[in-house]
Amino acid sequence: MSRKKFNPRTLVQVVFALVVLSLGINFILFVNHYLGPNANSPFNRPAGVEGFLPISALVALKAWLATGIFDTIHPAGLVILLTAIIISVIFKKAFCGWLCPIGTLSTGLARIGKFLFGRNFRVPLVLDYPLRSLKYLIMAFFLSTVLLGMSGSAAAAFLNTPYNMVADVKMLQFFQNLAGVGLLILGLIIVLSVLFENFWCRYLCPYGALLGIISMVSPWRIARTAKTCINCSACTQACPNRIEVATAQQVWSPECNGCLECVRACPVPQTLQFRSILTHWAFSPQAMALAVVGTWLIFVAVAKLSGHWQTSITPQMYRVLIPNAANYTH
Ligand code: SF4
Ligand code: SF4
Repeated sequence: MSRKKFNPRTLVQVVFALVVLSLGINFILFVNHYLGPNANSPFNRPAGVEGFLPISALVALKAWLATGIFDTIHPAGLVILLTAIIISVIFKKAFCGWLCPIGTLSTGLARIGKFLFGRNFRVPLVLDYPLRSLKYLIMAFFLSTVLLGMSGSAAAAFLNTPYNMVADVKMLQFFQNLAGVGLLILGLIIVLSVLFENFWCRYLCPYGALLGIISMVSPWRIARTAKTCINCSACTQACPNRIEVATAQQVWSPECNGCLECVRACPVPQTLQFRSILTHWAFSPQAMALAVVGTWLIFVAVAKLSGHWQTSITPQMYRVLIPNAANYTH
């Protein structure tokens, strides 16, 4: 009886998803205490929730580039965005493939689909191409609005508005009070993610679209040695992003998230590798897990030690901001 090979990516994904889940629970407790009669929280606000504020982080990036001032309101959000960008420059879109909890959720939903229907369905190519461009259009909209449409001083001013200060609280309350059209859209995305592997990441996520374009400069990429390849197509079949690995010499695609599922599937040793075109070093899935998690932890540790992680918003300010979060608009 064949036993399934251990997949380090699954371990990393599950651990990160559990960490994010615990951050979310802590954040709910933190917010709830400020909504109670004592308006005082014994819970520390988990700064990592700022990873769910990508637009605020983009505005912070604009303000930082234009004025040199690093955001003090949601600094962890900017650190997370910068770390995801740096990981993409080095290791392809590995943030999406290894760390992003939405990517993990998407993978989990696709597995439910496989369990229910015996397979995931495929959007026909004629629809796949236009649908894939959606995420780039959404990305272009945000990039042009924030990076081109806002001046540096406007971006810096936005960061200090009450609206931005409670953007994380508003996000939480949006999901807690989800109803009507919002609930319908979320339900539709979940159903489509069960039916079609990586539906959200492949068609809709502007964050992944940005990282994918940046990842095209990465020196690390999947490389196939044609001499030893037996043309079995196991790599193409294993690729969750429908990349034709078996016929490529190197995978340049912005859709490649460095998941290394193709490398794991290849039956011929050293025929398919995740290799640097500069140094020719190749990473096994285990080495990739260490490299991606290690890079992430180093950046978070540096941010924490240098005072670029915790918000400058004080408990006294939260006492006013959180109960009034719904009243702050733009
Ligand atoms: S399976 Fe290979 S080609 Fe496909 S996304 Fe993962 S690393 Fe890239
Ligand atoms: S799985 Fe390996 S041997 Fe099979 S087609 Fe891909 S690179 Fe070639």
